[in-house]
Amino acid sequence: MAYPEQFQGFATNDPKDWAHPKLTSYQPKNFGNRDVDIEVECCGICASELFALQNGWSHEPMTCLSSKYGPKTQVVGHEVVGKVVAVGPEVTLCKIGDRVGLGAQASACMQCSRCTSQNEQYCQNSVSTYCSKYPDGYVSQGGYASHVRAHEQFCFPIPPEIPSELVAPLQCGGLTVYSPIKRNIAGKTNPKVAVIGIGGLGHMAIMIARALGAEVYAVSRGYSKKDDAMKMGAHKFVATSEENWQQSLFDQFDLILNCASSTTSLDLNNLLPCLKVNCNFISVGLPHVDEDFRVKPFTFFRNGCNIGSSKLGSRTEAIELMDLAVKHNFRPWVETIQVSEAGVSEGLTRLNDGDVRYRFTLTGFHEFFNT
Ligand code: NDP
Ligand code: ZN
Repeated sequence: MAYPEQFQGFATNDPKDWAHPKLTSYQPKNFGNRDVDIEVECCGICASELFALQNGWSHEPMTCLSSKYGPKTQVVGHEVVGKVVAVGPEVTLCKIGDRVGLGAQASACMQCSRCTSQNEQYCQNSVSTYCSKYPDGYVSQGGYASHVRAHEQFCFPIPPEIPSELVAPLQCGGLTVYSPIKRNIAGKTNPKVAVIGIGGLGHMAIMIARALGAEVYAVSRGYSKKDDAMKMGAHKFVATSEENWQQSLFDQFDLILNCASSTTSLDLNNLLPCLKVNCNFISVGLPHVDEDFRVKPFTFFRNGCNIGSSKLGSRTEAIELMDLAVKHNFRPWVETIQVSEAGVSEGLTRLNDGDVRYRFTLTGFHEFFNT
C-alpha cells in the first residue's frame, strides 16, 4: 500500500539507535477537515531531532511507544519544504500544487485566547510535528519522509525567491529566533543583541537581528567561528574562553538570546550583568533534561533583568521572516546531504559531533521516494 494510506520515512524507537533510523512504512494520522498533505522535497536537520531520537528531554520511554494507533516508531524532521498534494474540505490557506514550509508545530486548537491572538505556538493543545500526541492518541510523525500531514495553519507559503534547501531551516530554527528578537527589540532605538551559541539557530539569529536593525554581538565558546560570524553580519565577536570576556560588556544589551544546546558552558552570573536595566535573557536553547540554569538571585537584583524562554513563532511571524529574508537578501548557510538511511545517519552524527557549518538540509526526496 502506498500514499495516501501509507507514508514512508526514516524511523526508530530505540534511543540507542538514534543515529540509524531505518526506512519504514506507516499509517498517517486521520485526515482532518483542515489538514494538508505535503509531498516532501527537502528537510533541515535541527538539534531538537537529536534530543527526540536520543530521548534526551525525558526520563519516560519514547512517546511513540504508547501510540494508540499508527506507528510505534518515530520519524523526526520539522524543517520541511514540499508540495501540497491533498487538502481537507475546509482548507483555505493553501491549494494543491503550492510550495509550502512546515516547522515544528503541526496542529493547535485554533480557538483559545492564544490561538486567536497570534500566539498559536503556545496553545495548550498544540501538537508538535513529531513525537507529540494528537487528542485521539496518534503520535505525530515528521518530515524525514515521503509525505507529512499537518493542519493548514502551519503550512506556510514560501516566496519564490528562496530555493527550497535554503528556506527549509527558516521553518523551525529561523522562526524560533525571529520571534523573540522581534518581540524584544520592537520599538527600541539602536538596539544591541547578543547571540550565544553559533550553531543552526545562532547563525540565523545573527542575520535576522542584523536585518531588524540591531547591533549584533556573536558569543561563542572559542574563536573558530569568528570569521564566519562576521561574514554573517555580526558587528562584534566574543569568545567566552577568553578570561574576563564579560568585562567590557557590562550594561550593553537590550536582549541576550541563548541558542546553545547545552547549559554546561553558560556563565549566567557573568552574562546577566551585560543586560541593560529590565532587559531580557531569552533562552531558545533546550538542553538535556538533567541540565539546569545556575544563577545567583543577586545577579538579577543589580539590573532588574529577566530570564525567560520562547517557543517557535506564529504563522504571521513565519511569513514576516521569509519576507525579511527576501528584502534583506540573507540566507541560512546550508550544507546539503542526499536523503537515504546513510544520509540521515551522516547528518545526525555530524550534528551531534558539532561538525556542521551551519545547517544541514536533506535533499533529493523525490528521487529517493519516487514521488
Ligand atoms: P546546533 O547544534 O546547531 O548549535 C548549538 C550550539 O550550541 C553550538 O553550535 C555551540 O555553539 C553551542 N554549545 C554550547 N555549549 C555546547 C555544548 N556543551 N555542546 C554542544 N553545543 C554547545 O543546534 P541548533 O541550533 O539546531 O539548536 C539549538 C538549541 O535550540 C537546541 O537545544 C534545540 O533543541 C533548541 N531549539 C529550540 C526551539 C524552541 O522553540 N525554543 C526550536 C528549535 C530548536 P558555539 O560553538 O558557538 O559555542
Ligand atoms: Zn527545530
